[in-house]
Amino acid sequence: MARSIGSILSKHMSKILHFGRSCKAYLRMYGERAPEIKLCCETCGHSLHKHGRYYRSVTTKYRLEQIPIYRLYCPDCGKTTSLLPDFLVPWARFATWVREAAITRKLRGFSYRQVRTTTTVPAVRYSHSTIKRWWRRHLQTASSVSLWIAEQLISSGFDGDLLQTYPSRVAAKPVDTLIWLQQLVALYTPAPLWRQGVGSWLNPQLPGPGFL
Ligand SMILES: [Zn+2]
Repeated sequence: MARSIGSILSKHMSKILHFGRSCKAYLRMYGERAPEIKLCCETCGHSLHKHGRYYRSVTTKYRLEQIPIYRLYCPDCGKTTSLLPDFLVPWARFATWVREAAITRKLRGFSYRQVRTTTTVPAVRYSHSTIKRWWRRHLQTASSVSLWIAEQLISSGFDGDLLQTYPSRVAAKPVDTLIWLQQLVALYTPAPLWRQGVGSWLNPQLPGPGFL
């Protein structure tokens, strides 16, 4: 009998990790061999074994690359974990910094055309509907990511009033949450990282599938 999508997904997890500063660096280090990494199963705690690799595509600002994604396997509960480099999320073909650059420009009021032409070269350009999809998804995840960052700031001793920075507390629009998220990110993220975008830095820390 065919397994349901739910049971297939629950057997496969993704973990986002930092494996170097760029796609090129990742390929240089792990193009041929798996990273030496010790992880325990998030479900049962058993140590995970290497479990081969598969190839997937990633589109950067300039080109489409095929990169290996290494997998780990839990011999105890049978779950497989894919190790994604921090410039990828499970659901997007484009590198995280390309999506982030597009969203930041859209938030600043760039037209769709301006967003597309300033974030990719013509050979790998995406469509208007792709930006709309990224934007919708970002609006959906912004509030949970904002709250998670606020929690981290508070638990690390930040004593300002974080809600005070929320742009409009009366009749808030979804885009207000994006502006609040940007302000929280600015408080939480070390300044030098801003040049490369912060999604790649935040995603390995964020819990669950709420990746940016
Ligand atoms: Zn397990």
